[in-house]
Amino acid sequence: MSLINPLSLTLPEFEAQVTEWGIKPFVARQIFRWVYQSAVIDLDQMTDLSKSVRAELKDRITLESFKAVEVVPSIDHSATKCVVTLTDGKMIECVVLHEKTYNTLCVSSQCGCPVDCKFCLTGVVGFKRNLEVHEIVSQVLLANRRGFPITNVVFMGMGEPLLNYDNVFKAIDMINSETGFHLSKRNITVSTSGYLAGIKRLIADERHINLAFSVGNANPTKRARIMPIELRNPIMEVAKVLADYQRQHNRKLTLEYTLLKGQNDSEQDIRELGNLALYLNAKVNLINLNPHVRIPFTPVSSSYLGVVRDLLHRQKVPVTIRFRRGQEISAACGQLGESHLT
Ligand code: SAH
Ligand code: SF4
Repeated sequence: MSLINPLSLTLPEFEAQVTEWGIKPFVARQIFRWVYQSAVIDLDQMTDLSKSVRAELKDRITLESFKAVEVVPSIDHSATKCVVTLTDGKMIECVVLHEKTYNTLCVSSQCGCPVDCKFCLTGVVGFKRNLEVHEIVSQVLLANRRGFPITNVVFMGMGEPLLNYDNVFKAIDMINSETGFHLSKRNITVSTSGYLAGIKRLIADERHINLAFSVGNANPTKRARIMPIELRNPIMEVAKVLADYQRQHNRKLTLEYTLLKGQNDSEQDIRELGNLALYLNAKVNLINLNPHVRIPFTPVSSSYLGVVRDLLHRQKVPVTIRFRRGQEISAACGQLGESHLT
């Protein structure tokens, strides 16, 4: 009999499941409290459960989503990468970004990614499979258990979250829920390369989540060269749908822009990016390319990064620059997937 992982279930679902096994529903609530509030996953440590219930549950559930975990801190301690082996042997990565007073977790939503952006190592690795709900939830749990209490979650690890919509949003509900990790929705961000059907579904579902859109290039022809998703999900249409989404709620949209030298860094490119930001009332987050031997692009110089920022400021567009972190441990944006290449 295969074991059920309760981390894929909501509390009412788990309560119904234990009831079916002849166990009182409050046991489900106790287990959720241990897992989500105390980061305990060993049934034997759940001391308020009777021995017989524990024994019974050991034959029915598992709270282990991962076969192995390797934790790699960066030299400057600003980031910690977790290389995770899933139960089927496939590998994913997630990264804890250490801020002064809090920790942000960059989670993966898929093993690999089918979108194939030409500047992203995860794209180079290709698509293996979608992650289950418990495999997403367990990334947060893993960080909490390793002593990095997570306050913010960004879906900027491996994969395109809107291509694994059901599992990603069920996991978000557990991250957000009072019976889950109870993180504010304000502290959860989904980043997308612009998958139209997914954004339309966000609108239909009235999912008011913080959204970041990875632009690549605001010019459709140039964008298609580095982001093949443009062919079926034209940025012009994406922009219109994003504007509709913005009208539904008052969170500011973020446009992520990975700078590739000689590809999307001309004054004209930046003006078009600025125009898109103004149209969407969005802020821009500049990310200099994290280079890799398998990626055929180079970053811009740090002084040019400042030039780009000033160009956007001149258009009155709010800009932040995301500094590279954890680069030497391949934990930076677009570097996830290294473990698949070796
Ligand atoms: N699939 C989603 C989320 C994961 S990628 C998306 O594309 O939005 C997270 C961010 O990393 C995206 O903004 C992406 O453009 C950026 N990125 C990808 N490869 C990168 C690289 N090599 N250097 C810097 N940023 C990169
Ligand atoms: Fe996938 Fe995002 Fe990488 Fe593109 S940038 S290949 S969408 S993970």
